[in-house]
Amino acid sequence: MNSRSFAVVGAGIGGLTTALTLARLGHEVTLVERRTGFTEVGAGLQLSPNASRILLELGLGAALRRVVTEPERVRIRTLRTGREIGRIALGDFMRGRFDAPYWVVHRADLQTVLLDAVRSLPNIRIVMGRTVEGVVDGPDDASLTMTSSQSRDTLTADAVIGADGVWSKLRHSLGDTAAPTFRNAIAWRTTIERHLAPAELAGNETGLWLGPKGHVVHYPVAGGRLINIVAIEKSDTPVEGWAAPGQREALLTHYRSAAPLLRELLAGAGEWLRWSLFDHPVGPMAKGRIALLGDAAHPVLPFLAQGAALAIEDAALLGTLVRDPRSDIVQSLKTYEQGRRDRAKKVQEQARRNGQIYHARNLVAFGRDRVIRHLGPVGMTERYAWLYGHRG
Ligand SMILES: Cc1cc2nc3c(=O)[nH]c(=O)nc-3n(C[C@H](O)[C@H](O)[C@H](O)COP(=O)(O)OP(=O)(O)OC[C@H]3O[C@@H](n4cnc5c(N)ncnc54)[C@H](O)[C@@H]3O)c2cc1C
Repeated sequence: MNSRSFAVVGAGIGGLTTALTLARLGHEVTLVERRTGFTEVGAGLQLSPNASRILLELGLGAALRRVVTEPERVRIRTLRTGREIGRIALGDFMRGRFDAPYWVVHRADLQTVLLDAVRSLPNIRIVMGRTVEGVVDGPDDASLTMTSSQSRDTLTADAVIGADGVWSKLRHSLGDTAAPTFRNAIAWRTTIERHLAPAELAGNETGLWLGPKGHVVHYPVAGGRLINIVAIEKSDTPVEGWAAPGQREALLTHYRSAAPLLRELLAGAGEWLRWSLFDHPVGPMAKGRIALLGDAAHPVLPFLAQGAALAIEDAALLGTLVRDPRSDIVQSLKTYEQGRRDRAKKVQEQARRNGQIYHARNLVAFGRDRVIRHLGPVGMTERYAWLYGHRG
């Protein structure tokens, strides 16, 4: 046997990276996606060295360099006054320290780079507009049922990889039927033309504004042409739907006591989309010939900017473990689970803790600011050496 067959469910960043990784090893891949086309929301993504390293190893460096930006630092400010609290070293320091860059990118650009690479490989078949309803794990193969409004088909493969996101159906096939937990926060996202942002906030750096009612992150994407903005609103009720439109006035009301400079940035954007933020404890990640990956396996709050990065790490380890087509696939998937669970848990916990730290008030906020100042830009980056220096 020279190769294996894999069905990958979901063509998000996790599914695309997995399909590419497996196909580069010579395996036959069918990528099933319920959407009928590849549109992406206008939003950005931070790609820390633990993820960029893997994308570079996949040979995507030249294509990515055309669309990414490499900010020099994160500048941390107090949301209410705009006073600078401290900085986190990115740019050259990050690249030198972890041997890979800290990039920021428009999600649509990353998706295009991954899709182009996926489409260039003859051993990947993309099946669009089909929803996977369930998977049956058999002794010799796994088969999934996929439906569209007109059809119902079965697909059989040596293994099925569920990369179907936070509301994963494949997670149910592994015995985890609990719904994800709403974490009392809503992310407002938009991108604006750089010239619409206040000049002070339009440089090659990431801005992070901390306050008790939420925090704001912004950074340049699309080669610096756009500024991506994420504003977190603490809230007890989730919004309807996955990405609901948001009214700028409501956001400005929420941030009415923010510094004028930040309010000017937020006011510059016309259209906002809102995401309710959910996560879910890491459950089983593999059973028989089925494995989960990315948000399907370990949805994580965006407060550490690691959801997509974890999915990319998952794909890399999976690739390493199924490289040899004669290996026992069930054992390989078990080893994959063992290799990923603790890391995913640690990132999830740290992301939750970051939310508490970002939204701290009074004495706790005072202590936080002192620590940030004491550590300095390099110390702030070094705190995350375990995260950014990870090699699977
Ligand atoms: C506000 C915000 C900011 C973020 N910022 C960052 C960041 O800076 N850095 C970072 O690394 N991460 C970030 N993330 C997290 C990141 O976006 C996600 O973790 C990542 O996109 C998950 O990728 P995925 O491929 O696992 O899932 P998804 O992107 O959700 O993809 C799942 C795919 O599966 C498809 N699908 C679902 N069900 C089925 C089915 N039954 N059959 C067929 N197809 C199906 C869906 O249509 C979708 O295309 C952020 C998230 C949010 C909300």
